Amino acid sequence: EFAQGVALYVDDITVSFDGFRALNALSLTINVGELRCIIGPNGAGKTTMMDVITGKTRPDKGKVHFGSNIDLLRLRENDIAQIGIGRKFQKPTVYEELSVFENLELALKADRRARASLFHRLTGEQLDRIGEILALIHLKESAQRTAGLLSHGQKQWLEIGMLLMQDPKLLLLDEPVAGMTDEETERTAELFLSLEGQHSLVVVEHDMKFVDELTQGRKKVTVLHEGSVLAEGLLSEVQANEKVVEVYLGR
Ligand code: ADP
Repeated sequence: EFAQGVALYVDDITVSFDGFRALNALSLTINVGELRCIIGPNGAGKTTMMDVITGKTRPDKGKVHFGSNIDLLRLRENDIAQIGIGRKFQKPTVYEELSVFENLELALKADRRARASLFHRLTGEQLDRIGEILALIHLKESAQRTAGLLSHGQKQWLEIGMLLMQDPKLLLLDEPVAGMTDEETERTAELFLSLEGQHSLVVVEHDMKFVDELTQGRKKVTVLHEGSVLAEGLLSEVQANEKVVEVYLGR
C-alpha cells in the first residue's frame, strides 16, 4: 500500500527481439496520483513498455517497481493484474451479450480481493460502488442495456468501468480515444481528469488534442523514440523540441 511518492519506477529497461532493441535503457517514473501521457511515433516502444510493466514481456535487464517496494519483474502477469494495475488495450473487450450492469458485476467478481463469489449476491456497498462507476462512465441510464448495443465509445467507457471495479492504483491505457467521436473524446478527458489524484494513469496516445485536454498546459508528457525517452516536458515544450519535430516529420 502506498499513499504518496512513486507509483511506478521503470529503470534502465532493455528488451530485444532477435537482437533488435524495442526498448533501449528506458527509464521513467510516475508519481502517485499522476496522469502521464506517453507519445511517440509508431514503433517507438510504447506497447512493449506496457507489456513489460504488466509482465507480458520479460526485459533483458533493468528494474520495474510498483509503489515503493513491489518488484514487478518477480511477478507473473496474472498476479500483476491482481495487485492494483489495470490495463486497457485499444480494442474494447466487454461481454457483448451481457448488460452493462452485469459486465461491471462480473468485473468485481473476477477480482480475487473483492471476495465476491460468482454465486453470492452483491452487498449494498458493492451495489453503491457499481452505481458510482456507472455515473463516472456516463452509463447510468444504460445500466440494463446489452453491452453489444453500445456505441464504440460507450464500450470503451464500460471497459474502463470494469477496470475501476477492481480499484486499481495504476491504470495503463492504450489509445483510449481511438475511434471515438469528438464529444466522446471530451467526455473521456473529463473522466480521466476525475480519476487523476485517486489513481495514477499512464495514457499512450496519438491524439494531440486529447493530450492537450488531459495535460491542461501544466502536466508533463513523455516522448518515446527508438525504445527510450527522447524528451519530457509540457506538451508545448516537447512539440517545439527539435529532436521531437524531427522524429515526427521524418516519417
Ligand atoms: P509502439 O507501440 O510505440 O508502436 P512497439 O512497442 O509495438 O511500438 O514496437 C517497438 C518495436 O519493437 C517495433 O519496431 C516493433 O516492430 C518491434 N517489436 C515489438 N514486438 C515485437 C516482437 N514480438 N517481435 C519482434 N519485434 C517486435
